Amino acid sequence: MSGSEYEVVVIGGGPAGVSVARSLAILGHRVALCGSSRRHAAVEGLSERAASALRAAGFAQALEAIGPSLPRRSSWNGVLVDAGREHLVDRRRFDEALLRDALGSGVACHDARCEGWHYGERGVRAHERRRDGAISLIEARFLIDARGRAASFDRDSGARGPATTALGRSWRRPAHSAPGSAVAAFDEGWCWLAAPQDGPMYAQIALASDSAAIRSRSTLAAGYEAVVERVAELREWLRGATPCSDVDARDATPLLGGRLATERSLRIGDAALAPDPLSGQGLFEAIATGLAAAPVVNTILRRPADADLAREFHLRRIEDAFWRLARVGRDFHRAEQRWSESPFWSARRAWPDDAPVRGDAAQATIAAVPVSEDGFIVRREAIVTADHPRGVWRLDGVELVPLLQLLRSHEGLRRDQIAAEWSASRGVAVSDVERALVWLQQRCFA
Ligand SMILES: Cc1cc2nc3c(=O)[nH]c(=O)nc-3n(C[C@H](O)[C@H](O)[C@H](O)COP(=O)(O)OP(=O)(O)OC[C@H]3O[C@@H](n4cnc5c(N)ncnc54)[C@H](O)[C@@H]3O)c2cc1C
Repeated sequence: MSGSEYEVVVIGGGPAGVSVARSLAILGHRVALCGSSRRHAAVEGLSERAASALRAAGFAQALEAIGPSLPRRSSWNGVLVDAGREHLVDRRRFDEALLRDALGSGVACHDARCEGWHYGERGVRAHERRRDGAISLIEARFLIDARGRAASFDRDSGARGPATTALGRSWRRPAHSAPGSAVAAFDEGWCWLAAPQDGPMYAQIALASDSAAIRSRSTLAAGYEAVVERVAELREWLRGATPCSDVDARDATPLLGGRLATERSLRIGDAALAPDPLSGQGLFEAIATGLAAAPVVNTILRRPADADLAREFHLRRIEDAFWRLARVGRDFHRAEQRWSESPFWSARRAWPDDAPVRGDAAQATIAAVPVSEDGFIVRREAIVTADHPRGVWRLDGVELVPLLQLLRSHEGLRRDQIAAEWSASRGVAVSDVERALVWLQQRCFA
């Protein structure tokens, strides 16, 4: 057994693990990433928002692997509509490209499986088994759990939505198929077809995990085929296509992992919050939680006096995103009204509760909250509203609380005069100040 020492070890080489590993390496930390490659082939839709996050963070290789933005259609509640665009990514190719980006930024990437870790006086020791069977030890001051849904679930502090399983299969495409994706609802679930620019198509069916098709591995293919036979949209999408893989089953239950932050570890990505795939935000949240975790870990390691503040930032961010996405998912399910009494739809229309996705934007208050600034978590005064419960302290580089104070102390001044004065004194664009002023006004401040 050999050993090596790092400041941070990241377990899991998916979008979350790579995002945090790369960001920490850029901040000057020695980072090891222990990741085993994906078991199953899958195609997923990557939102424009996720592509922008990759672009902003400089993921050149991953951006090359996402392909063009393609049209998305939706057949929901009996209505067929255009539903925006998404990139269709082959997850194996995408994850390999992410790893190349990490390597290029100085992350030590180990093609290995982590078999466990334990905490010692100086930090954490992770045991890894490399592809050739060799076992080695990684010693680090801090560990990040980015194992996706393979991470353990903490019953006391975690939460689960209705148990959902997705069956997926690749299909050789017929000559008539146009690139793009489509989603459709049916009485026992929903289905999604991805026809990327190149390569096979992929058809995925989401069902309640206790449905008959999923009870045993031997019934998966028959269950999948029965749904294809029964659902008109699926039949039409797959007309002339032939299967070119087995049917795979993936857990797709919305999940808040729990134990999000301990003294020497953090969870990110699906290990922290795994949204309902219907939201199409899983990849975005994985990348975003990875990027947001880097200043948290940087603070814990380099400004230990602020470690509690950094953990508070992480916890609030993850929990806020999880419950917001859960309610967005509930509203999607409520929008489909044809089978509201069926077990699949009724359970998902009721979870997690009846609270609105976001409360009223008005009635803002000022509070000191943890925010991310220049690679660290610091406390800043921010505007807290029901639609932004974690507070907003800066918009396009314009600090909101001092701008509000200026507004209040110069009641006679017009908005354009205030914008001009602020822009001149702080060196920010007038248009950015104007946007910030509108934002404040909408929240009953001005
Ligand atoms: C059926 C389904 C469909 C989905 N479709 C979409 C979609 O269309 N759009 C979208 O945005 N999101 C989608 N998602 C969500 C998306 O897949 C996840 O949110 C995203 O992959 C999470 O990234 P991650 O890095 O946290 O985890 P993962 O991508 O799961 O990566 C975890 C990595 O850790 C590795 N690992 C696990 N255990 C160990 C270990 N012990 N040692 C070393 N490595 C380990 C795994 O092999 C894997 O490489 C879907 C999810 C499901 C279940």
